[in-house]
Amino acid sequence: MKSEELFSRATTLLPGGVSSPVRAIRPYPFYTASASGSRIHTVDGTTLIDCCMAYGPLLLGHAHPDIRAAICSQIERGWLFGTPTPAELELATMIIRDHPGNEMVRFVSTGGEATMAALRLARGYTGRMDIVKVEGGFHGAHDAVLVKAGSGATTMGVPDSAGVVPDLVSHTLQVPFNDAQALEEVLRSHPGVAALIIEPVMGNIGPVLPEKEYLKDIREITRAHDVLLIFDEVITGYRLGIGGAQVRYGVQPDLTTLGKIVGGGLPIGVLCGPRRIMQLVAPSGPVYQAGTFNGNPLSLAGGIATLRWLHSHPDSYRTLEMKTRAIGEQVEERHDGAFVRIGSMFKYFFRTQPPRNYRQAKESDTVRFRAFWEAMMKQGVFLPPSQFETNFLSTAHTDQDIGIIGAAYRTCL
Ligand SMILES: *Cc1c(COP(=O)(O)O)cnc(C)c1O
Repeated sequence: MKSEELFSRATTLLPGGVSSPVRAIRPYPFYTASASGSRIHTVDGTTLIDCCMAYGPLLLGHAHPDIRAAICSQIERGWLFGTPTPAELELATMIIRDHPGNEMVRFVSTGGEATMAALRLARGYTGRMDIVKVEGGFHGAHDAVLVKAGSGATTMGVPDSAGVVPDLVSHTLQVPFNDAQALEEVLRSHPGVAALIIEPVMGNIGPVLPEKEYLKDIREITRAHDVLLIFDEVITGYRLGIGGAQVRYGVQPDLTTLGKIVGGGLPIGVLCGPRRIMQLVAPSGPVYQAGTFNGNPLSLAGGIATLRWLHSHPDSYRTLEMKTRAIGEQVEERHDGAFVRIGSMFKYFFRTQPPRNYRQAKESDTVRFRAFWEAMMKQGVFLPPSQFETNFLSTAHTDQDIGIIGAAYRTCL
């Protein structure tokens, strides 16, 4: 069956025809038959160079042999036990080694669960109930963080979804990215804030980079107000390098959430932090968190294999950065938009300047993006189908792939 027919059946079975909203490409999404390395093979017989990489997890590309071997070997021994396994200690040790200042880890099943647990832990630790997030920051699809960006410089939360309890969301305050002053003002006027949760590099409105001293400034401001700083590194963890944004920028958060790459393509979320805070998590403390699939052996096996590979290929991040830059060089010299990149994350914004926050990103010309996206598909390059989703490269993208992607950008722009 071809994609068009599959999708028309899917619309009767799945709301909107898909299992997650961003996949609902009009008029119909392509269906994947298989994938390996940098390539996706569709059920329609097309092969695409993938610059979406499942929205970030597949740093080593599709079906990486080392990860496959680790998963298969775990499958031989069983894949779910409901008991502790040695792999938990192994992956926790690796994560703690790679993120100095973190001493304990809770494994959950998704990034969204990790941020939910982080916020509950911050509230339990401080005894305060308000949280601050950044406008346009995405932390998963749970109530406290499904908050629409408002119109003022700082706003009380308004639910971004039907069915979210307004009373809960009224505890979520928002500040613009790259505006330390706005954070200072919110914390000064709201004494009940438990934590600031932030993507240190915004990844869910396209990459929006922190300006020079911004992360250091918010570290100082949160510390001065005795507010916990939570870095949501679900995208940036192991994407921007070993140790993610906190090591790259040299800023130590109080709590960190990881996901995506740390599961090697299997579902995972990780909450980590120093012992003095983490020991409040159940069963050693009063902040409840539990899950049937917490620390599930297959995700741990995928994660361990990924981190081992990364540690044994120390040049891979530099190579990835060079590849991203090579695409940028094809684009920058000739066009009027803004090519933003960091590490293996990049995006071409249809606006003249790189955005510094959500509101500026939103000014991009999405009609032009849509036409561009379709043209790229015709060139055999699959980009995430939104102006506001980051493009990702993997270590499986060859120099030849980069040449094709760069040429496709030139042609399509
Ligand atoms: C993807 C993402 C999440 C949610 O992770 P899931 O595994 O999809 O629940 C949370 N935070 C950030 C920054 C993300 O990019």
